Amino acid sequence: MSLGWKWFIEYQTPHSAHMHGIKKIIHSKDTRFQKIDIVDSYEYGRMLLLDGKVQSTVRDEFIYHESLVHPVMIAHPNPKDVLIIGGGEGGTLREVLKHPQVRSVTMVDIDADVIESSRKYMPELSCGAFSNARTDVIVADGRRFVESCAGKFDLIIMDVTDPLEGGPGQLLYTKEFYESALAKLRAGGMLVTQATSTYYSIHCFATLFRTIKKVFGRAGGYHVWVPAYDSSWGFVYGTKGRDPRGLGAGNVDQEIKRRGIPLKYYRGEAHSALFALPKDVVLQLGEPGNVATDSKPTFMPI
Ligand code: SAM
Repeated sequence: MSLGWKWFIEYQTPHSAHMHGIKKIIHSKDTRFQKIDIVDSYEYGRMLLLDGKVQSTVRDEFIYHESLVHPVMIAHPNPKDVLIIGGGEGGTLREVLKHPQVRSVTMVDIDADVIESSRKYMPELSCGAFSNARTDVIVADGRRFVESCAGKFDLIIMDVTDPLEGGPGQLLYTKEFYESALAKLRAGGMLVTQATSTYYSIHCFATLFRTIKKVFGRAGGYHVWVPAYDSSWGFVYGTKGRDPRGLGAGNVDQEIKRRGIPLKYYRGEAHSALFALPKDVVLQLGEPGNVATDSKPTFMPI
């Protein structure tokens, strides 16, 4: 029975997928790096897809962006200079700028077309963040930028497309990259990265945890359910300073209030829930195993 509209099918594995009913295709373009599609869906409103993977939807992007950004930002006592790698649609940038201590955010994305099409067709994601006086947007490969930049940062936030074989972000999930990033963090600094699904690609999540732990010495993982990804989505961080996991719900609420940050998802008890990983995931993180390197990266199943 045809329901009279198109279906966009996103594969989590070769044998499991999430179908999205699509009203209209707004913009499609093959860039030097990836395929951009911006579509209007019935369930999630406007969506940004890259190489057939859901990146952000107007309806639920705040869940992902607030969960990626605020645990490490709140844990850092005075995050002045922040580096974002990726994040082309501007949601991560928007969230970082909410912290009053931030004096500069450098956002490095490899694909100007993602930034331009997001600004044009999904402006509610960046909410003017690209033209904020504290923002510096650089179009470049994130790996090369980190290896060559002179500056130091308090936080590095990795919001790059998934580690897919042949994808543009593949070498931003390796031991060698994290070693370069560690060298660009000030004392007390932290790095956090999106680390794929803690269900469909748990091996990838656990490998990224082992890799970042090997480089930083102190690392942790957490996750949040993202409806449009139809999965619990993982984040891994390495720290030279405080550990976000140690923050109690009360401290988080107090710090949010002190900094005057407007939020839709993140709050004290939500912070505690992010870090309450289930036993099966915790056991995976404790398993011995390989780390991701340039010569042997980790990949999602599809
Ligand atoms: N939330 C999404 C996720 O979890 O997969 C990521 C969102 S954001 C759209 C991903 C961004 O990573 C894109 O804008 C893409 O251009 C950028 N990107 C991919 N490879 C990159 C690289 N090597 N250097 C810098 N940016 C890169």
